[in-house]
Amino acid sequence: HRAKGGGGAFQMFTPEMGARAAHLLTIQHKLRRGLERHEFVAYFQPQVDLRSGLITGCEALARWNSPEDGLVPPGKFIGVAEEYGLIDAICGQVLDDSCRWLSTWRARGLPQVPVAVNISGRQFQNARQLVAMVDQALRQSGVDPRLLELELTESSAMSDPENAIAVVNLLRERGVSCAIDDFGTGYSSLSVLKRFPIGKLKIDRSFVMDVTTDPNDAAIVQAIIAMAHALNLRVVAEGVETLDHLAFLREVHCDAVQGFLFARPLPGEDMALMLAGGPPQPNPR
Ligand code: C2E
Ligand code: MG
Ligand code: MG
Ligand code: MG
Repeated sequence: HRAKGGGGAFQMFTPEMGARAAHLLTIQHKLRRGLERHEFVAYFQPQVDLRSGLITGCEALARWNSPEDGLVPPGKFIGVAEEYGLIDAICGQVLDDSCRWLSTWRARGLPQVPVAVNISGRQFQNARQLVAMVDQALRQSGVDPRLLELELTESSAMSDPENAIAVVNLLRERGVSCAIDDFGTGYSSLSVLKRFPIGKLKIDRSFVMDVTTDPNDAAIVQAIIAMAHALNLRVVAEGVETLDHLAFLREVHCDAVQGFLFARPLPGEDMALMLAGGPPQPNPR
């Protein structure tokens, strides 16, 4: 027997590969069943503006609410879902859930902040399907498109920039904005970056983590912020965990922060409490 290996090359089929294939099949089966039962939901992590101290946005992060396995984080299923062509359906449920919560918060008279939904590179490759999914979610929920933001990673943005720019433009025509996620981990061509009609850059957590101990990371973060501001982009730092991180980011004029220091990703009900609570306080551990 032969099986398709990484990089598209054909390799001999081994028992370990058989075990892995069986494991993937089980997950695939469970994912399909989870989709039928609408088990994919959004958790929300606030973004705190450093000037006003207020929550000015949040990110929707996929969680699989599985009856057998509990709350499963995206690292455990996004990759498999992409492999089996299930990412669109899963993201669709996360997007729908995000829009449902946006309507709920609005109905309760809470401050309205945009929700950023993560989109995988695969989905950006299929522009028509992505745009149809967004249109449907907006139509179904009646949510103001300006309250929806999509995050695409720097690596997927740069792997096929012409296509990505076209998709971002299609979304922008609808009032939906885009942000570049995990910035600093891919290979951005600055000449391409300046053509991206986006409003926001998110600095990857790996740079923020050591920003107070590693002078190189500090320099990189400072440079990203300066460049982003020169291009009129807002900058959000992700993975902000400590008061030292916060102090540094303030000093280098980062616009907003997201991380465990202010809140972990929260169920919609808890996010409602945060929105109702005024300026959030940092909780150093
Ligand atoms: P991401 O978009 O870069 O999201 C940020 C991740 O960092 C989240 O992990 C979040 O929980 C985590 N995080 C936030 N603040 C902190 C912090 O202070 N410290 C630490 N150590 N971690 C922090 P999560 O929720 O496990 O998501 C992981 C990745 O999965 C996301 O990275 C995103 O790339 C992907 N993902 C999540 N939801 C979706 C989705 O609906 N669709 C797609 N395509 N990908 C998704
Ligand atoms: Mg993200
Ligand atoms: Mg990110
Ligand atoms: Mg990241």
